Amino acid sequence: MKFDAIIIGAGAAGLFCAMEAGRRGRKVLVLEHNAQVGRKIIISGGGRCNFTNREVRAENFVSKNPHFCKSALARYTSQDFIELVKKHRIEFYEKKLGQLFCRESSRQIVEMLLAECRQSGVEIRTSCAVKSVSKNDSFEIETSQGNFAAESLVVATGGLSFPKVGATDFGYRIARQFDLKIVETNPALVPLVAANSASSFKKLAGVSLDASVSFGKQSFRENILFTHRGLSGPAILQISNYWQKNKTVSIDLSPSADVSELLENNCENRQNLDNFLSRILPNRFAEIFTAEQFSNKPVNQFAKTEREQIASKLNDWQIEFSGTEGYDKAEVTLGGISTDELSSQTMETKRVKNLYFIGEVMDVTGWLGGYNFQWAWSSGFAAGQVV
Ligand SMILES: Cc1cc2nc3c(=O)[nH]c(=O)nc-3n(C[C@H](O)[C@H](O)[C@H](O)COP(=O)(O)OP(=O)(O)OC[C@H]3O[C@@H](n4cnc5c(N)ncnc54)[C@H](O)[C@@H]3O)c2cc1C
Repeated sequence: MKFDAIIIGAGAAGLFCAMEAGRRGRKVLVLEHNAQVGRKIIISGGGRCNFTNREVRAENFVSKNPHFCKSALARYTSQDFIELVKKHRIEFYEKKLGQLFCRESSRQIVEMLLAECRQSGVEIRTSCAVKSVSKNDSFEIETSQGNFAAESLVVATGGLSFPKVGATDFGYRIARQFDLKIVETNPALVPLVAANSASSFKKLAGVSLDASVSFGKQSFRENILFTHRGLSGPAILQISNYWQKNKTVSIDLSPSADVSELLENNCENRQNLDNFLSRILPNRFAEIFTAEQFSNKPVNQFAKTEREQIASKLNDWQIEFSGTEGYDKAEVTLGGISTDELSSQTMETKRVKNLYFIGEVMDVTGWLGGYNFQWAWSSGFAAGQVV
């Protein structure tokens, strides 16, 4: 059977591209190996899908070419997606920092995409395993449900994270088959494992606090969460997009208070250090931090050099991580099909006519906060206008 366009992967980017191409009257087929479409959308945002962000800029994305994403993001904006969500009467709310979530369920976003695809006459085949792809005059796709051909092929198979919901390396394999450059992939938006995951992490597991986490020039102020093996929480997930092995991350555990100044101003205070620190830190953290790092005694018994050490540990904690919790726990994949290979206007590969890559499979990775879905919509839209 011959189509104008075949899209591999019925996730966020694939479904969006399909509905846009279908709207232009193109005959579109989407192939999905899972029994269900959009599984990552369904589990996203704790079941409420943080589908976009009110403020989306190129700075919210990591890519070898930081300018690549600009054109697509400008042509299909977060406001455009918000209008679509409103048209489908899906209620949403802003949680924080411009992050928009469904009030009811992320399934509403999948239903919206499916309704749009139906309206545009898109054919979707689920439980369909793609066996091989070849290109002669057109693309020929061999699948578990028979052979299909199309003038254009769009690869929308996503990244490697969360293999339990069907993530595969298929997109990268297709890229290799056509000799396209791939930027090294790594788990991202992922908890980090401390190099010295000593007993203190186990004791602190579950403690969450407001912190400012920095790596190089990048800095995020949000909560961090102690785990048995290291750190998680939004600020850590954000910095994991930038973190490099063998380099330290700097964490201000008390970004609202200059601890050095606070201790100097209270150097005659007779409260025990742990009680004193619980003014600015969670009790359990203050207690364990004091016990592990210093002897617990009244503040007025600490010498100036000791007070400085305490302040530096709290306002400028230098921590080394040995690695990440891996693709099983990562929300996204850093790296992917090199943007050097792609047109920023259409997502078509420069070397293979009519072959497109969209969404997370390419080397464009967003911050936490709805940016990854916005990239799926914007890149899907770009390809959907031309396939
Ligand atoms: C737990 C979790 C929570 C997340 N929450 C958010 C959030 O709230 N906001 C946000 O912006 N981002 C979030 N993300 C990231 C977001 O889900 C992805 O960036 C986004 O789904 C990428 O869209 P995509 O279409 O490129 O890939 P996907 O949505 O992953 O779609 C790829 C599709 O291709 C299919 N596929 C793969 N291989 C094959 C093959 N060989 N043959 C056929 N089909 C194949 C997959 O089954 C899948 O359906 C979250 C991710 C995870 C894991």
